[in-house]
Amino acid sequence: MLRLTIIALAFSFLNASAQIPTPKEYFGFNIGDDYNLATYTQTEAFIKKLATSDRTKLVDIGLTEEGRHQWQLIVSSPENIKKLDRYKEISVKMARAEGVTQDQAKAMAAEGKTIVWIDGGLHATETVGTHQLIETMYQFVTRNDAETLRILDKVIILFTHANPDGQELVSSWYMREPKAEKRLIRDLPRLYEKYAGHDNNRDFFMLNLKETQNMARQLFIEWLPQIMYNHHQSGPAGSVVAGPPYRDPFNYVFDPMMITGIDAVGAAMINRLNSENKPGYTRLGGSVFSTWYNGGLRTTTHFHNMIGLLTETIGSPSPGEIPLVPSRLIPSNNTPFPVAPQVWHFRQSIDYSLTMNYAVLDYASRNSDLLLMNIYRMGKNSIERGSMNFWTPYPGRIELINTAFKNRPKKAVPDKPIAMTEQAGLMGGTSEIPSKYYDSIFHVPALRDARGYIIPSDQPDFSTAVKFVNALIRTGIRIEIAKSDFIIGKKKYPSGSYIVKANQAFRPHVVDMFEPQDHPNDFQYPGGPPVRPYDAAGWTLAFQMGVEFDRFLDDFDGPFELINYGEVQSPKGSMDASASAGYLLNAKSNNSFIAVNDLLKQGVEVYRLPEGLKDKNAAAGTYFVPAGTKAAGILAKDAADLGLNIAGVSKQPTSLAKVSTVRIALWDEFGGSMASGWIRFLMEQYRYSAEVIFSKTIDAGDLNKKYDVIIFVAGAIPAVIKETENNEPGNRREPKPEEIPAEYQATLGKITAEKSIPALKKFMEEGGNIVTIGSSTNLAYHLGLPIKNAMTEIGPNGIERRLPGDKYYVPGSILRMNLDSTQSATWGMSNKADVYFNNSPVFKLAPDAVISGKIKPLAWFGEENPLRSGWVWGATYLKGGVVAFEAPVGKGKLYAFGPEITFRAQSHGTFKLLFNELYSVDEIPKNVTLGKKK
Ligand SMILES: [Zn+2]
Repeated sequence: MLRLTIIALAFSFLNASAQIPTPKEYFGFNIGDDYNLATYTQTEAFIKKLATSDRTKLVDIGLTEEGRHQWQLIVSSPENIKKLDRYKEISVKMARAEGVTQDQAKAMAAEGKTIVWIDGGLHATETVGTHQLIETMYQFVTRNDAETLRILDKVIILFTHANPDGQELVSSWYMREPKAEKRLIRDLPRLYEKYAGHDNNRDFFMLNLKETQNMARQLFIEWLPQIMYNHHQSGPAGSVVAGPPYRDPFNYVFDPMMITGIDAVGAAMINRLNSENKPGYTRLGGSVFSTWYNGGLRTTTHFHNMIGLLTETIGSPSPGEIPLVPSRLIPSNNTPFPVAPQVWHFRQSIDYSLTMNYAVLDYASRNSDLLLMNIYRMGKNSIERGSMNFWTPYPGRIELINTAFKNRPKKAVPDKPIAMTEQAGLMGGTSEIPSKYYDSIFHVPALRDARGYIIPSDQPDFSTAVKFVNALIRTGIRIEIAKSDFIIGKKKYPSGSYIVKANQAFRPHVVDMFEPQDHPNDFQYPGGPPVRPYDAAGWTLAFQMGVEFDRFLDDFDGPFELINYGEVQSPKGSMDASASAGYLLNAKSNNSFIAVNDLLKQGVEVYRLPEGLKDKNAAAGTYFVPAGTKAAGILAKDAADLGLNIAGVSKQPTSLAKVSTVRIALWDEFGGSMASGWIRFLMEQYRYSAEVIFSKTIDAGDLNKKYDVIIFVAGAIPAVIKETENNEPGNRREPKPEEIPAEYQATLGKITAEKSIPALKKFMEEGGNIVTIGSSTNLAYHLGLPIKNAMTEIGPNGIERRLPGDKYYVPGSILRMNLDSTQSATWGMSNKADVYFNNSPVFKLAPDAVISGKIKPLAWFGEENPLRSGWVWGATYLKGGVVAFEAPVGKGKLYAFGPEITFRAQSHGTFKLLFNELYSVDEIPKNVTLGKKK
C-alpha cells in the first residue's frame, strides 16, 4: 500500500511526458546514431506523441506541395500554453509598433514572453537540420532541469518543420540500402522540394511555394518572433559550424539594432560552445554568408527587424572526417577556437546543434523584456524614418559626395592644407573633404528616400501587379487600397490602386522590394578579382515583375482603406459581354495566357492581331477570340478569376494569325534541375501541358513525332569551346544505372555534342522550335550560327579570351534591355524591360547576320549603363550586346535568351518571352471572314 502511494506520487510529479517514448524507444535508434535517419512519416507520428504534453500546442500550418501536413510544435510552460493568444498579441503589437506608446511597450515587454522560432530540414539533404529539430523538441518537452524550466517559463518556442516532403525523400533514399555502411545521401534522383529543390530558400519575398507561404504566415502575420533560427549544413572545410555574425556586405536598409542583435545572440552561441569545449565555430569573414540578400527563410526576417540566425553545421549519418586545413588552425576573430582534424559522428553534430539551440533560448529567457523592447524600438525607428526626410546611406550616395568634392570649382588660390589642431586631434583627426559636402547630398530633398508608392490599377498587367502586392501582404507589409478615384499632383489614379507607405515597422522590406539594391564594388584587393555575393546582388521584385508604380518623396493621402494584415487580394476583372464580333485579350497581361490556354483546351479558336488594333488601343499581338457561347462562358469565368479586363469588338479585325496549341517538352536531368523545376511550376500555374524529358529521349531521335517545342534551361547544353563560351553546364556526377532504382534509370545521361545535338538540329530542320535560356544558348554555337560571345577581349598573348573578372563582372542583378516588340516572339512586351541577368550570355552578331536573315535580334543593351538593381562592373562592355535572338534552322527556329527570363518564377516581367514561343501562330489571308462559332 505504502509502496503504491510512493509510485503514484512519483508519477504525479512528472508531467504528461511520462507517456512520451524516448526517440530510441520510438524510432529504434537514438537521434544521431550512425547510419540512421528518420523519415517524415515517422517524425510526424513522433511529433504527435510529443504533442500529448501540456507543454505543447500542435499547429498544422498548411499542406506541402506534395500534400503532406506541415507541423509546427509550439513548446512553452503549461501556464504559457494556456495564454498563447495573449502572448501572440503582445509579440505582434510590439513588432508592428503602431500606435504603441513607450509606456505601453514597457508594460507589454514586462508581461510578454520572447517568441523564438527554431526550424529544421529546409534543405533536406542537410540531415543534421531535421534531426536536431526532433531531438531538441524531445528535450524541451521532457527535460525538467532548472535551465529548461526557466526557458519554458520565459520563452515560447515555435519548432517548425521546414520541408516535410524533402525529409521523406532523403531519409527513405538513404535507408533503402540494407547494409548500413553502404548508405549514401548523394545521387538523390529528384528535387527535394517538388519544384525548387535548394531554391526553396530563395522564395521568401516571392512566396511561390506552399511551404514558403505556410512558414511566412507564421513568421510575418501570426507571430512576428523576435528571434528566428534557421538550421543549415554544412560549414566550410576545417570547421564544424559557420554561424553569426556574418560577413559584409551589410544591407543598408537594415536597422542597426538588428545587426547588433545578431551579434549579441551570436556571442551567446559561440561562448556556450566554447564553454562546453566544442571547438570549430567560424563567423564573420570565416564563411561566405552575409546579410546582403533578401529572399531566404532567414534573410527575409532581417528585413522585418527580427534577429535572424543561420548556422551551417557539418555532419552526416555516415561518419566522416574533419579535414586538415592548416590556415583554419590559427585562432582569429573569425575562428577563436579552431577544431583539430578528426573523425566525426552524426551525434556530435546533433550535440552542437543542441548547444546552440540552448544558447539562443537561454539568451532569450534572460533577455525577454529587452528583446521585446528592441523589436518595438526598431519598428518605431522604421515608422519615424518613413515619416520624415531620410537618406539611406547607399554607397551610390557616398560616391556622390566624393564626386562633388572632386568636381569642386577650382580656386585661383588653392586652399591651404587643413592644419591639424589639438581639437582636431582629439576628434580623431581631420578629413580633406569639408563637412558641407555631406549636406550637399544628405540634405538634398530630391535625393531623399521615398515616403510611399502607388501601384495604379489601370496599368496594362494589373493582375501581375496584384501578385506583387500579395507577395508583400504575405510578408506582413501594411497595404492600403483606394476606394475611389483620386488625384495627387497632376495625376489621376483610379479606384482599386494600391498604396504602400514607408512609415511602417517593416520599412526595410518595403524599400527593398521597390528600390534598387546598391551593391558595393567589392573586390578582394584594389584591382583584384571581385568577391562573389553569396546569392544575388540585386533582385528588386517590383522591377523583376514589371510592376508600374509611382514613388513619392512627400507624404500623400487619399480615399485609402487599410487592408487587414495577411489578407491576400484578387484583382477584379471585367468583360464586355455585348461584343458582337469577338473579344480582345490584352497581350501585355500574363494571365491572358491562362485564358488562351483554357480556350484552346476547350477547342475554341484563338487569334492574335499582328498589327494590333489602333481604335481599341490594342498593341501588336493582342488576342482576338471570335464571339461564341463557349468562348463567352470561359472568358467570363477567367475574367472574374484572373482579373482580366476583356474588351469587345463589333467588327472582326482584318489582320489575324491563328493560334494553335503545340506539344511542349521541358528538359530536365537526373537529380532535378532547379531552373527546369521553376518552369515546370510556371507551366502548371499558367495551365500549359508540358512533358518533362531527359537526354535519353533526345538522343533516341525522331523528336518531331512527339514534340513541337523543346525548352532548355541554363545548364543543359554544353559549351563548344570552353575558353570563350559561357558557363559550363552543371558537372553533377551521375550514379551508375545499377546503383539506383529502375524507375529513375531513364532520367540518367547528359546532353552531348555527339548524340544529342544532331538530334536537336534534325528536330529544328524538320519544323521543331527550340527555346534556350542562359548557358543553353550554347546551342547556337553548336549550330554554327553567325554569332560570337560579346564579352571577350584579346589577351596579352594575342589570343581571344573571356573578359577577366577585374574588367567585367555582373553577379545576379537586374538590367534594362531594349526590345523589338513588333516580333511575334516579343509581343506584349514594351520596347524596354527589366531582366534578370547573372553573368549571362551576351552576343555579338556577324556583320551580315541580320541582312542575310540568319539572325533576328529580339533584345539588346542600348543604354550606357543598363544597371537597374544590383552590381555591374564594366558596364561599357555590355553596350550594344545582343541578349536575345531568333534564328531559322531549316523549317524550325531557335530562340536564344541569354538572361534568366523565368528566374525562380519571380521575373514575371519577362515570362511572356517564353509564353509567346509556346504556340504555333499562322497568319491567315487578310479579310477572310471567320466562320460563326457556337
Ligand atoms: Zn542549406
